[in-house]
Amino acid sequence: MAAKIFYNDDADLANISERSVAIIGYGSQGHAHALNLRDSGVDVRIGLAEGSKSRAKAEAEGLRVLSVADAVEEADLIMILVPDQVQAEVYKNEIAPHLNEGDALFFAHGFNIRFGFIEAPAGVDVAMVAPKGPGHTVRREFEAGRGVPAIVAVEKNESGKALELALAYAKGLGATRAGAIETTFTEETETDLFGEQAVLCGGTSQLVQYGFEVLTEAGYQPEIAYFEVLHELKLIVDLMIEGGIAKQRWSISDTAEYGDYVSGPRVISPEVKENMKAVLSDIQDGTFAKRFMEDQAAGAPEFKELRSKGESHPIETTGRELRKLFSWNKVSDDYTEGSVA
Ligand code: NAD
Ligand code: MG
Ligand code: MG
Ligand code: MG
Ligand code: MG
Ligand code: MG
Repeated sequence: MAAKIFYNDDADLANISERSVAIIGYGSQGHAHALNLRDSGVDVRIGLAEGSKSRAKAEAEGLRVLSVADAVEEADLIMILVPDQVQAEVYKNEIAPHLNEGDALFFAHGFNIRFGFIEAPAGVDVAMVAPKGPGHTVRREFEAGRGVPAIVAVEKNESGKALELALAYAKGLGATRAGAIETTFTEETETDLFGEQAVLCGGTSQLVQYGFEVLTEAGYQPEIAYFEVLHELKLIVDLMIEGGIAKQRWSISDTAEYGDYVSGPRVISPEVKENMKAVLSDIQDGTFAKRFMEDQAAGAPEFKELRSKGESHPIETTGRELRKLFSWNKVSDDYTEGSVA
């Protein structure tokens, strides 16, 4: 294995205990970083916009909440955990004017640095600690004495100690209990975007919708189609996580396994791989980032239209009705807790 992986013994909390940390944003990742670091003995304050709904939640946890500018002023390690599309604006107006030489600027995703929307001044370290899981899992695992693995990367090492600082941060998060893998901003950003677009989110959503459409258009009941193409997906993916595609194929029937071999490549034909390469190329040359940021700057008209089109797909109506009837389903359809990918 070529990847470099760091564990608890490779990281020294002393590197971060001399620091004053500002967590900017208190959403999915923000709350987990703030609480885990605080419980690891790190000096933490939160930076939020005036009137932010997150303010009361952070204060209820006993955290000190300041304006973004004041938090940056006080701190010398600033972790930016506001949504990717607003980071450049927040950085320009409220962070950059308060940065000093010797400060460290941290991220949990490389988007804004990789595509040049944020450029840190000389004398400031730029590093990433990105847990490979949703914020709520990052907090829950830490409280259980475990940790969610993370990615660490250094973009600018002005102090000569940026990696040690990132590892100390990862240790405070509980991530080095599970393992912190070293990467670069470029690799993290491009592979994260590709994974979510081609396979995890984009590819899977389209595959499930087409499967549902083909069955219902052929006259099968939507409730049955929902189970066959959406609900069972989790059971299959759980097996893949446990033991790879090989374990999943071992567990399913021989009928299913044979069907996998002969029909998988018919559905996902070699031209799909060419389409994936085109998606990767748009990520690498900045076409995707530009399109996303321009739409956001215009008030996100394309994003909103695509979201509402997705929400009105018939599979959502069928799913909502069916999930109400699942006695085992403890997860509600209220998904206000923030994103994962
Ligand atoms: P989020 O949407 O859950 O939370 C955003 C927070 O920023 C909220 O507290 C919100 O009040 C605050 N905020 C929004 N606009 C603001 C502004 N203009 N000024 C000040 N505060 C503002 O965000 P998130 O999903 O936790 O994502 C944060 C970062 O973490 C992103 O870079 C994302 O790519 C990365 N990341 C997220 C996850 C995840 O599990 N959601 C996983 C890995 C990496
Ligand atoms: Mg400061
Ligand atoms: Mg079946
Ligand atoms: Mg089998
Ligand atoms: Mg991801
Ligand atoms: Mg992502």
